[in-house]
Amino acid sequence: MGDWLLNLLFPPRCVHCKSFGDWICDKCFAEIVTVSPICSGCGKLSDHFVTCGNCRSRFGVKRLIVFSHWQEPMKSIVYGFKYKRIQVLSKKLGTWLAERLTQNNDSNNEIILVPVPLHLFRLLTRGFNQAELLGRQIEKTLGLKLVPALKRKKATAPQFGLTKNLRRGNIEGAFAFNSRYFDLVNNSTVVLVDDIMATGSTISECAKVLKQNGAKEIWALVLSKA
Ligand SMILES: [Zn+2]
Ligand SMILES: [Zn+2]
Repeated sequence: MGDWLLNLLFPPRCVHCKSFGDWICDKCFAEIVTVSPICSGCGKLSDHFVTCGNCRSRFGVKRLIVFSHWQEPMKSIVYGFKYKRIQVLSKKLGTWLAERLTQNNDSNNEIILVPVPLHLFRLLTRGFNQAELLGRQIEKTLGLKLVPALKRKKATAPQFGLTKNLRRGNIEGAFAFNSRYFDLVNNSTVVLVDDIMATGSTISECAKVLKQNGAKEIWALVLSKA
């Protein structure tokens, strides 16, 4: 279906204030509070979101780049994107992530993008992997390559609503490497893309698997940290 027909049938309405015209209006967009560069693990100020030594060993990522604080209107935007299936929002969100990545990349590293995979069960119920949609937009905006180098091995319960310890046990061993992409991942800087980071156990588990398969450096890029 063309965009014009979709717009006719479902006129865009701001997911936060409900005004007609766009999925996020200019007023609400201006209210998004972006995160200043810090170590996203512990909150210490840090240029380009480079993680401190402690957090680097904890999360396995050298940069943990976060776009905005987890508050309104961002919550409504992410909710609209994930649960109300307003997939066109991935264009805006992905573009913001692309800008964030550019602003915080002062390296000359060869970068590839890897989306955090969604388990098949949830892919079937939701119909799309939000991390992959965001990644596709970043790929398009920056001309980088997005590769589905990770896949889920086991069905994990949703991370929200579990205690910290349960979350870690829940995610351990959950990801497998897709060896088709070994040559691309080997020796590259991999940027893991996800929508929301909770405890970071998903990110660190993904980072571990990528490291084991030759990635030189791992960064993570997320919309918000809950
Ligand atoms: Zn609005
Ligand atoms: Zn830290």
